[in-house]
Amino acid sequence: MKYTFDAVVVGAGQAGPSLAVRLAGAGRKVGFVERKLFGGTCVNAGCTPTKAMVASAHAAHLARRAQDYGVKAGPVSIDLAAVMARKDAIVLKSRQGVEKWLRDTKNCTVFTGTAAFESAKTLRVGDDLLEAENIFLNVGARPSIPKMPGVDSAPFLTSTSILELKDLPRHLVVVGGGYVGLEFAQMFRRFGSEVTVVDRKPRLAMHEDEDASAAIREILEAEGIQIRVNACCIHLEQRAGEIAVGLECREGEPHVLGSHVLLAVGRTPNTHDLNLAAAGVKANESGYIEVDDELRTSAPGIYAIGDCNGRGAFTHTSYNDFEIVADNLLQGAKRRVSDRIPASALYIDPPLAHIGLSESEVRKQGKRVLVGMRPMTRIARAIEKGETYGFIKIFVDADTQQILGATVFGVGGDEAIHCILTAMYAKQPASLLTHSVHIHPTVAELIPTTLEDLKPLE
Ligand SMILES: Cc1cc2nc3c(=O)[nH]c(=O)nc-3n(C[C@H](O)[C@H](O)[C@H](O)COP(=O)(O)OP(=O)(O)OC[C@H]3O[C@@H](n4cnc5c(N)ncnc54)[C@H](O)[C@@H]3O)c2cc1C
Repeated sequence: MKYTFDAVVVGAGQAGPSLAVRLAGAGRKVGFVERKLFGGTCVNAGCTPTKAMVASAHAAHLARRAQDYGVKAGPVSIDLAAVMARKDAIVLKSRQGVEKWLRDTKNCTVFTGTAAFESAKTLRVGDDLLEAENIFLNVGARPSIPKMPGVDSAPFLTSTSILELKDLPRHLVVVGGGYVGLEFAQMFRRFGSEVTVVDRKPRLAMHEDEDASAAIREILEAEGIQIRVNACCIHLEQRAGEIAVGLECREGEPHVLGSHVLLAVGRTPNTHDLNLAAAGVKANESGYIEVDDELRTSAPGIYAIGDCNGRGAFTHTSYNDFEIVADNLLQGAKRRVSDRIPASALYIDPPLAHIGLSESEVRKQGKRVLVGMRPMTRIARAIEKGETYGFIKIFVDADTQQILGATVFGVGGDEAIHCILTAMYAKQPASLLTHSVHIHPTVAELIPTTLEDLKPLE
């Protein structure tokens, strides 16, 4: 059957549903297509399930440390089925909420199936043809499977399939020391698995500053996680019921033997089966759709929002894409992706939150820069909570006093960093924060103190 809409939205990720509802609310006739799970990656295989499981892992960790707090908790054991059931209940509620929201929205017709272009204005979904002047692609990404030797014959887990494990791995080998790999590594170690993290790069979380990478390593090693970096030739082999992950590291054993392997080596955009060529939508060699600063693709009327445009890889960036497109289309605003300040958190425990420029980016700018640094061991709230790993680090332009970037790594860091982020969006000098009176005792109250003790970046 053929349908004509004002707009078609493809993908129920973090941008698509909000955009569809906003357009429908503005009186546009909207077609909405999702082929699998409403809520996309974040709700079903990303933020929501992992953070629910990180919370279970944190509870186990704290229970094991109970004596540190003068509490007798007895021996700690993990009921993986109960951990998974808790996670599933949270996920299901969220997924069903998104689907109901869309189906209950006036002016919005939901289709289930895979959408592919027939032309710049037409998409096919099974037997249906959906025609619209505006098409919005929020198709997201999936775990990348690298072409490493052995990957076709040895079993492995991805960030999606690991969420369905029924039994705890005896020894989980995590290939990839980025956000996703590190969160699973610490979580499964806290559940009781032996864990080794393998990465071909020289340090963990390479996108973070060197001091942050070193602190991450210290935290994970203190919990008994083995780290093998500089693994220059990673490959998989099945060996008598175990999986050998070949490393060829510069030092140490050339293999690590595990019961399970998690491949956490990045994401690939879901653009391969959209037939982009039929619409004249250009993508780069990695499959990311090329967009301008207002998220328009190379084809008039077609927009790409969320992870598939390569301009962000987070729920908040995808949601911000929705806001940019909706405000520009419906309110004649001039919002741009380049107005966005980079912001992200790595949810190991304690969390590592980073905004703005990194140290190497600050150095490249060649400006006169001041840096403030305070370890969590000198923050009362962290001491009282018994969680003193990490630090606060803030870079300030010496001439303009504008904040250039910051890391808050430590207990509550993912929340505390937002006062700095707001000052950056407001383009206010660091004195805005030094003159603010923060609540005691919090981690955030030491942000003004950190800024009162700035030193030239050497
Ligand atoms: C393990 C893990 C943990 C994460 N943790 C965090 C976190 O803590 N914080 C954070 O900000 N981000 C996190 N992320 C990233 C976050 O999940 C994504 O950035 C976010 O979901 C944005 O995705 P999106 O909106 O681009 O699309 P997605 O959420 O990926 O949704 C795309 C949707 O499009 C559908 N689709 C694809 N192709 C078609 C088609 N042709 N036809 C119809 N439907 C189609 C898919 O089925 C899917 O439902 C995590 C990711 C992973 C994997």
